[in-house]
Amino acid sequence: MTRRLKGASSADTRSAILDLIRSSGQVSRIELSEKSGLTEATISKIVRALIVDGLVVEAGFAESTGGKRPVLLELNTASRYALGVSLDYARISLVLCNISGNVLHSHAVPGAGRSKPQTVIDRVAREIGKFLDKHGIDRSDVIGIGVSGAGRLDASGGVLRSSRQTGEWEEFAIEAALCEATGMPVILENDANCAALGEFWSGRVSTAHDFATIYMATGIGCGLVINGDVYRGASSNAGEIGHLSLDIDGPECFCGSHGCLEVMATPAAVVRNARDDRALWERLGLQEREGEDVRTSFATIAAAAMSGDESAESLVRRSAQYVATAVLGLTNIFDLDRIYLAGPGFATAGPIYLGVVRDVLERTAFMRKVHSVAVEMGETGPGAAARGAASVVLHSHLTPHHLRG
Ligand SMILES: [Zn+2]
Repeated sequence: MTRRLKGASSADTRSAILDLIRSSGQVSRIELSEKSGLTEATISKIVRALIVDGLVVEAGFAESTGGKRPVLLELNTASRYALGVSLDYARISLVLCNISGNVLHSHAVPGAGRSKPQTVIDRVAREIGKFLDKHGIDRSDVIGIGVSGAGRLDASGGVLRSSRQTGEWEEFAIEAALCEATGMPVILENDANCAALGEFWSGRVSTAHDFATIYMATGIGCGLVINGDVYRGASSNAGEIGHLSLDIDGPECFCGSHGCLEVMATPAAVVRNARDDRALWERLGLQEREGEDVRTSFATIAAAAMSGDESAESLVRRSAQYVATAVLGLTNIFDLDRIYLAGPGFATAGPIYLGVVRDVLERTAFMRKVHSVAVEMGETGPGAAARGAASVVLHSHLTPHHLRG
């Protein structure tokens, strides 16, 4: 399904045709004409310009349907690159993607920790320089740098505010600082939106589908892709499913509310609950450490749950029940038919979360008799947010018609 393009501006038409080529994999000019509603002459003109710009190449012939075999077009994946950076407390990941959103190279360096923002940004800029040199990538071929981080965005889109470990990051303009340090365009986006756009750009989801990606790392967020773009809300902060209150009498959350999904279900919550079960705590060899080690402890509990430790499994299932309850609310509000679970929080015990969320939606989604809701695993590797951040660059620079739509 494609929105007809007649009456769109020429820049938007070009952007939409490039997006059709991207999402088709390989496509002929005739098919582009049919899908877009534009004449073959117009398509030929746009395609010629895209080929001259090096964004599209001819790639063999389609099967003949009677006459001449039509020439197939595809993205020229070697033409440009996008860099993705996930700026995380415990680990910073860098990835270099081609314009199809596929990861060509990746690299991880120590996280931001408690260092001053400018120190971290200068270090990231140096790492980016070394990373590009190592792989022989010319900076002029890099479209831009996408940065993924947890937390709220400032209205200007440049500042991450009030995530748990922010401190001095509160008033720090990440986009401007990294742009200054690298000389490249920078776009900041929250990790959940990055993960959602990563799924979309890499072609796992067609433009016809609206979907949500639930992203769990230290916190839990959600990226909503509606009509081929992330739904941003009034200040680019839509999708804060982590601060959906599930128990008004529950524990206080740092956001000011009570019983938020983040307090009830994150890795930190599971580790906190495990601490109350001394037998489990000692059996798994968990230790009293805070901050960056929560993920290690959570991974240990998740692995035990997966290998049949009943106490560990019941803790993870409890977390999954809260995630499922929040996803149920989201699904009912937006009438979604597709959900992805992504991010390192789902890396080990993903199958347990997947099973519980599917079960809850099958039994209780309001629209279950009208349509089913597909729940699938998204990317859970440590580079998932960085790859998504690179997709954000591609999405906003190569196909900006989505943003204006
Ligand atoms: Zn909260």
